[in-house]
Order: sequence, then structure tokens, then C-alpha cells
Amino acid sequence: MKILAVNDDGIRSPGLWAVVEALRDIAEVVVVAPDREQSGIGTAISLNQPIRVAEVVPMVKGIEAYAVEGTPADSTIVALESLIEGPVDLVVSGINQGSNMGNDVFISGTMGAALQGHFRSIPSIAVSVAALKDVQFGPAAQTVRSLAQAVAEGKLAPPLLLNVNLPNVPVEKIMGVSLTHLGRRTYMDVIKEGDDGRRKYYWVTRENPGWVLEKGLDIWAVRRRRISITPLHTDLTSTPPSKEIRGLTRDIRRVFRL
Ligand code: MN
Repeated sequence: MKILAVNDDGIRSPGLWAVVEALRDIAEVVVVAPDREQSGIGTAISLNQPIRVAEVVPMVKGIEAYAVEGTPADSTIVALESLIEGPVDLVVSGINQGSNMGNDVFISGTMGAALQGHFRSIPSIAVSVAALKDVQFGPAAQTVRSLAQAVAEGKLAPPLLLNVNLPNVPVEKIMGVSLTHLGRRTYMDVIKEGDDGRRKYYWVTRENPGWVLEKGLDIWAVRRRRISITPLHTDLTSTPPSKEIRGLTRDIRRVFRL
């Protein structure tokens, strides 16, 4: 089994190497990750400049590792299309420092990297721990290992895109595992205005995000110290469209006299 390990926290992030440690005895793991932190960069890909790649000394001995001067999505694309020979069986993105739940999956670089695997019909998993400091990677690494084994046994064939979030607690404090839906924030971002002496600036800050805490949502599970597994798909189409939206086609037909 061959696994691509990628992330958005950068190639030196301990979470990435915790994944490698957890998987190295069940798979050939190749690390291809951004050379610096890229959190919040979402699905961005570099189209206006070349993507430079350097093979680096791995933080886990014996692992092939490449640092990418580009985004998380760039890293997955370059890995799958060029750096890695032969088929890749699984893409693991993370372990991210900080949760990636609800609406945040749309801005998550961790998810951006996983999506590129999913787009290429490879089972892909994004995994995050809900803390920015003193992050405990152990339970997340064990979860990834279990999911990778399921993929190896053919239990999880593509299309598979999982968003996994864990509370920041040790193994013995994990209360359970839930299959969840994406949660919703009650408000998004706060702008801090300032002046650097030359120009005014606006800084997007994300203090105290409010969350809807309904049962069955990712945030609900993580708050209850449960492992949250959210199966995702990329069909964003709203079905069925509302009566008002269906009416729009009539308005547009009138504009074009159709
Ligand atoms: Mn990150």
C-alpha cells in the first residue's frame, strides 16, 4: 500500500510526522508538503508561477520527503502527477493543528490537499485536532491508522472523502466515535482595524467562533470528546431548487424572449 502524507501546516509540523510514524509499518509513506504554513489557503493552486520542489531530510528516518514551494493542493497534485511513481492508494492530509469543521472545510488547506486526491479517485482523508497549542496527536494518528487499514482491506473504496476531527484529549478520555454532518458557525470572522504608520490595515481574526450545537454535527461530537468522522462529497448542488429559484428561469427567459 502506498500513502501520500500531505498537510497545510508545513513540512516541519509535528502532526504530519505523527501520521508517518503511525502508518510506516503498514504502508510505504511518501511525504510531500508545503515548505511553510498555509492554513486557510483552501483549495488554491498556483497557476502564475512554477512550483519548486526540494527533497528534504525526513523527520522520520527512511521516509522519502519533499518540500513544496506552493499550496497544500499544489503539493498533492505534484505528488500524484509527478513525484510518486505508480498508484497511490490513500491520501492523508494532516494531522492539522486546529479543527476543520463546518463551513471551515471550504477554506481549509488541509481539506484543499485532500480534495485533490479525491478528484483523482483516490480515497482521501483530512484529519485535524481541535487545538492550536499543546496538541495531542496520538488519538488522531491511531484513527488514521485504523482508517488506512480499512482502505488496505478494500472496505473503503473510492469515492471516499472523510473529514476527521478529534478533541484535544489523551486516548483514555475519548468518549466515542460519531458519523457527523458539517456544523454551522453562528458568525464568521471579525475584522481588526489598525494602522501601521503608512496605511490602514484590516486583519481577519477568528476569536471565539460561535457554533450551532445540534446533535449529530461535527462540532457537537468534538465538544463531547468524541471522534467526529464526516463523510463528504463534492456535489454542492441544491436539490431540489426552491420555487423562487425555479421562477428565475422564467425571468431570464423573458430577458432573452425565449
Ligand atoms: Mn493548518
